[in-house]
Formats: sequence, structure tokens, C-alpha cells
Amino acid sequence: MDCIFCKIANGEIPSQKVYEDDKILAFKDLAPQAPVHILIIPKEHIKWAYDITEENSTVIAHIFAKIPEIAKSQGLKNGFRIINNCGDDACQSVHHIHFHLLGGEKMSESFA
Ligand code: 5GP
Ligand code: ZN
Repeated sequence: MDCIFCKIANGEIPSQKVYEDDKILAFKDLAPQAPVHILIIPKEHIKWAYDITEENSTVIAHIFAKIPEIAKSQGLKNGFRIINNCGDDACQSVHHIHFHLLGGEKMSESFA
């Protein structure tokens, strides 16, 4: 499948990894929108949040279980933001589910 995040997960495309285990990968965003901007992905291809099911949500839960450790490892001691863009209205540009971990500065109150 021609998916850049599958290629990042399998090493075909290089990335600056900050956390990896057998199920998930966290790496630095190519175009950071905050001093710390990490993307966290399941290694398994899930297109978007519409496709989360009871069966595959264990890997999503695993991502959230690792967020505190990843955030602390990036020096985020004063809070952080987790964002998932799903579909066109949210401007999802890579169709392999990912969670943005943003922080390192005071962010705006608005999401939209
Ligand atoms: P989306 O807009 O789909 O929520 O977020 C996609 C993110 O992936 C963007 O923030 C973009 O900068 C990042 N991105 C796109 N291609 C690459 C890449 O090849 N490497 C890395 N590290 N980030 C990428
Ligand atoms: Zn993929």
C-alpha cells in the first residue's frame, strides 16, 4: 500500500523516532507547528478515526497509555495537546491514523 506512514513504520522512509515498540511509533513531525510536535501512529494501517472498532481499539488504547511517557520524554512538563484530524473537514492529509502531540509553549484556546 502506498502509505507514507506505513513506510515510516517499516523503515522505508526515515524519521526522527522518539518512541517505538512492536505496536506503535512516535516520531517528529516534518513541519512542526509547536516547539514539540510529535506524531504517534499504530504500526498497523488504520485509515482514520472512522475505522476505529472494538477489535482494533486496543492499539489506540496503547497509544494513549504511552502518551504520558512520550510527553515527559520530550520535556512537556506544563501540559500538552493531543489532536486527531479525521477526514476532509478536519484537513486530514495523511490517511493513516495519527495523533499529534503538541506542546512546549502556551497554545491558543481555540481548536478550529
Ligand atoms: P494531518 O494533517 O493528516 O493531521 O497531519 C499530517 C502530518 O504529517 C502533518 O503535520 C505533516 O507535517 C506530517 N508529515 C507529512 N509527511 C511527513 C513525513 O514524511 N515525515 C514526517 N515526519 N512528517 C510528515
Ligand atoms: Zn498506512
